[in-house]
Amino acid sequence: MPNIFNIFNDEPKRKGQRDEVLPPENDGAPDSNKPSGLCPRCGKQSSFEIAGSLPATFDYETYARKPNGERHYDLIDRATSLICRHCKQGTIVIEEQWVGENPKNKQKTGGVISFRGIHWWPLSEAKLSPAVPSDIANVFSEAIITLSANCPRASAVMSRRTLEAITVEKGETKGSLAKRLNTLGEKGI
Ligand SMILES: [Zn+2]
Repeated sequence: MPNIFNIFNDEPKRKGQRDEVLPPENDGAPDSNKPSGLCPRCGKQSSFEIAGSLPATFDYETYARKPNGERHYDLIDRATSLICRHCKQGTIVIEEQWVGENPKNKQKTGGVISFRGIHWWPLSEAKLSPAVPSDIANVFSEAIITLSANCPRASAVMSRRTLEAITVEKGETKGSLAKRLNTLGEKGI
C-alpha cells in the first residue's frame, strides 16, 4: 500500500537493486521511528519488532474527546519495547513525540507525527577486543554510555580522553592533542 505520508518526508530515499525503497539507515540505537540500528543488547546491527508502547508523559493542554465523552490526553513521551530480531531480547526506549521535524513541546509547524528515542535501557556498551588496553577501553566505554544516556557533551569529553589515552599508549605524552595526533600521523601510526 502506498504510504500517503511520504509527501512530508524530506529524507533522501535509499534504493535497492530493483529500485525498491529501503528503510532509512540508522547508525544509532533503534526507536519506533527507525526500528533498525545498533542493538544495545548484542551490539549487532539488527532490525526490531515493536512489541508495544505505554504512556510516560501526558500533555494536559491537548486532548481529544472519546465517543463516551472522556478526555484522551495527548502524549509528550512514551515508553516502547523493541525486540531485536538477532538476539530476541528487548530494549526499552523512552521516545518523545515529534510533529514534523520538531519535538511536540517545541512545535513550530504541523507535519507527520513520529516518536523518537531519547533514553535507552539497557545502555549500549562498547564491545572491544580484549587486545585493547583497559585504560583506553574504559574511557571509550564511558563515551558510548554517556551518548546513549543522551549526554552528548559528556560523551564528546570522554571521546577526546579516548584519543588522548591512545596517544599516550603510542608514546606521545607531550603537547596538545592535535600536536600528538599530527606527530603520530607523521610516524604513520
Ligand atoms: Zn540484539
